[in-house]
Amino acid sequence: MVSRVIPVEVFDLVVFGGTGDLARRKILPGLYRRFLSGQMPGDSRIIGAARAEHTDEEFRSLVKEAILEFVPENRQDQTAIADFMKRLHYVAIDAKGEGGWAKLKEVMRTDVVNAFYFSVAPSLFGDIALRLKQHGIADDNARIVVEKPFGRDLASAKALNATLAKHFNEGQIYRIDHYLGKETVQNLMAVRFANILFEPLWKSEYIDHVQITVAETVSVEGRGAYYDKSGAMRDMVQNHMMQLLCLIAMEPPYHFDPDAVRDEKLKVIRALDPVQPNDIVRGQYLSGGGQGGYVEHSENEQSKTESYIALKAHISNWRWKGTPFYLRTGKRLRARASEIAITFREPPHSIFDDAKGWRENVLVIRLQPDEGMNLMVMIKEPGPGGMRLAQVPLDMTFADALGPDAEDVPDAYERLIMDVIRGNQTLFMRGDEVEAAWAWTDPIIAGWEARGDKPQGYDPGSSGPEDALMLMHRDGRRWRDIR
Ligand code: NAD
Repeated sequence: MVSRVIPVEVFDLVVFGGTGDLARRKILPGLYRRFLSGQMPGDSRIIGAARAEHTDEEFRSLVKEAILEFVPENRQDQTAIADFMKRLHYVAIDAKGEGGWAKLKEVMRTDVVNAFYFSVAPSLFGDIALRLKQHGIADDNARIVVEKPFGRDLASAKALNATLAKHFNEGQIYRIDHYLGKETVQNLMAVRFANILFEPLWKSEYIDHVQITVAETVSVEGRGAYYDKSGAMRDMVQNHMMQLLCLIAMEPPYHFDPDAVRDEKLKVIRALDPVQPNDIVRGQYLSGGGQGGYVEHSENEQSKTESYIALKAHISNWRWKGTPFYLRTGKRLRARASEIAITFREPPHSIFDDAKGWRENVLVIRLQPDEGMNLMVMIKEPGPGGMRLAQVPLDMTFADALGPDAEDVPDAYERLIMDVIRGNQTLFMRGDEVEAAWAWTDPIIAGWEARGDKPQGYDPGSSGPEDALMLMHRDGRRWRDIR
């Protein structure tokens, strides 16, 4: 396979919060990797903008340190790093005041693509948008990139959309959900819409249920105060898992085009039924393994915030009526594993009267680790003694199937930033999508808050709270093992 790098135009990219954690860990190392791959054409530049005073040289040292820390050693080319440094500049900016904006205007070029990445607290989004316009820095062709969280409920998301809409039109706003930048997540669309094999079976008539799992082993230690105001529902389900659900459930868009794709996702979100209280299980990890529990990490002994959630969702439309979608995500679980498992129904009639060993076909799409796909199919167990069935995997690990190229795919952030430069919004959330997702999430959260529900404790290293197992058992189903 030959790697293809799609050229982009010359750009000036301003990273507000360019000295922050996200910029250091993801955005700037990612841009260096794109530079290595030849995707920073001509004299494209990156301009760090943050509160502290720095010279260009100081900013370059900071970025170099980030590259040495976060880019794998075999990609650290000293000559390339030195060349990349020449593309970096810095302007000290006060998002809430007037300092630095005149300088930024002076630095920006008007004859190249202008993009502004808001890698700062969401409370500053409005201030930055306003000043970019007030100072005549961003015109109608400029693009802005905003980070999660996009609101904490419907009202705040609407307010944020309204604030941004005062200064930018929807075609200029790129709301990041980095899950959409993951290779395997985009593969969901390729698998569904570039094969004839799956789509005819992709409906409740043939699919018994869908499981979406995002399991993490990490705790919230170090960012407990932030996480305690959020919880698994806001942090994972409303955005990332909702996007996965949409890509599995949506109708084929007429084209791989930003609005065509987002229109179809929006229809799925709007077709989601309200979730019943007994279809939700919330958990909090206990202390164990020499580490504190959630309440110690959040520094809130009374915390009712969930570090785990499992729920059963129904989509009321023609395709999915009768096929539940089970979602679960949590911290401090047995393994770090993200996957989507689609379990098919029984064949309508078994010709093997005495056949033992029959199990359902399952299509598993692994997001991590070992990105790949696995289709569980039935075959005859070899040997004499009648017809015995065995379930075997048709297993495809993308790294094996696609060779070294698969290991060198751009990280989610890199891909998404390049899409911003290209002006392609397909993998970004539209304002109405985010609002619809909150409109579904809000009553669920309001319900447990009104009831005063407490999350159930679960042991670190386990697969989550006991009640989550029951959520499946009572439907005669079970969660797949987290490994
Ligand atoms: P951070 O606190 O590490 O960095 C914040 C940056 O904003 C710093 O560069 C700081 O100088 C700048 N800043 C703060 N106040 C300013 C002001 N008044 N004027 C100008 N600049 C100012 O934050 P972070 O972790 O990098 O997060 C940035 C954004 O990304 C947030 O919206 C966060 O929710 C989101 N996010 C972060 C992560 C992550 O892993 N860190 C993951 C997903 C989303």
